[in-house]
Amino acid sequence: MTRTGTFQTSPRFFADGADNADAFGLGAGFGGCFAPETLMGNLLELETLWLESKEDPSFRAELDELLNHYAGRATPLSHAPRLSAKTGVDIWLKREDLLHTGAHKLNNTLGQCLLAKRAGKKRIIAETGAGQHGVASATTAARLGLECVVYMGAVDAERQAPNVQRMKLLGAEVELVHSGSKTLKDAVDEAMRAWVEDPLGSHYVLGSALGPHPFPRIVADFQSVIGREAREQILRQKGSLPDKVVACVGGGSNAIGIFRGFVDDPSVALVGVEAGGHGVPSGEHAARFSGGAPGVLHGAHTWLLQDAAGQVRETHSVSAGLDYPAVGPEHAALHVGGRARYESATDDAALDAFAAVAEMEGILPALESSHAVAWVMAHAKELQGQCVLINMSGRGDKDLENVIRANAERASKGEPS
Ligand SMILES: *Cc1c(COP(=O)(O)O)cnc(C)c1O
Repeated sequence: MTRTGTFQTSPRFFADGADNADAFGLGAGFGGCFAPETLMGNLLELETLWLESKEDPSFRAELDELLNHYAGRATPLSHAPRLSAKTGVDIWLKREDLLHTGAHKLNNTLGQCLLAKRAGKKRIIAETGAGQHGVASATTAARLGLECVVYMGAVDAERQAPNVQRMKLLGAEVELVHSGSKTLKDAVDEAMRAWVEDPLGSHYVLGSALGPHPFPRIVADFQSVIGREAREQILRQKGSLPDKVVACVGGGSNAIGIFRGFVDDPSVALVGVEAGGHGVPSGEHAARFSGGAPGVLHGAHTWLLQDAAGQVRETHSVSAGLDYPAVGPEHAALHVGGRARYESATDDAALDAFAAVAEMEGILPALESSHAVAWVMAHAKELQGQCVLINMSGRGDKDLENVIRANAERASKGEPS
């Protein structure tokens, strides 16, 4: 499903009037629906279902009930007093790490699975890289009484064995993918293929603000609860808006979720932090905006890492959740439009930030979220006296083994850990 298929050009495809080459109405030409013809029926049906459900108070009420009394919303906004004192930056953390299953992923799976149920689907299909979205999907399927199949690259399944066990214990079927690099990109291909084979009985729960329209908008909508809550909370707890909102960017769902709350506040700067891996000059990273260019992957025109021959490049990050060659198209539009700025933090900086948040705030952050903290720590001079809101997208329990191994490697090279 890489760079192939029909480009649907009917302007009617977007019910809200934006044309297909400019899915976000920002004039930047990102998004769209570069999908094979066989998927078009499913995508059109999904858009209709979503537009109807969005406006339906009974759908909203059912979703809110699940978010509030099952998933644990609202998540708190925590001041980070010791990190603030150390850096001279007034740091606040939006605590998605406290959401059920340990990350923001559940906001999206609950929303999409409710949509699927409304459409009478009995089965959901999901892809997963690190396993977090797979676990959230399996959890939601169990709660809503849906069958669940999760596609996962064989390499990822080996690296993330505990999450494979979790999904199975939750009653999901895990399909290992042996094609290509046997990682997330290949799992997305297989999941889309499985959806084409069972369009009437199943729904594909895409895990980030990625893919062909309408997925990026649906996922952003379900994640925007993060930004809505955070804006209210910071106004109530601090009494003013933050100067900056900072979030890590894998596919971009936690970042777009918190950005949505502040994008109409011109005084608030938005910063997305990508995985700098071993450093952008090394070529071993997932910093799409530093090392990539516009292109099409998995159904959307966006920013991605590709070589001169147009082949999608291998990526590297210490955090599996940021290790993907393309970024959600709405971020590409925000980048080109200048509304958000995209930077990167290296593996080492993220590991240092993980340690700082653990030792100074008593929170083990996900390695993904640690990238956002790392960017703030590295730019403390520029940010002196500013109020910075960081999205703590998830908790770090899943990363303990990786952190311990990486720190041991760094110690053996004589680097501080
Ligand atoms: C999956 C994941 C991410 C990356 O995905 P986005 O769609 O970019 O948010 C970031 N943080 C955590 C904790 C995750 O589980």
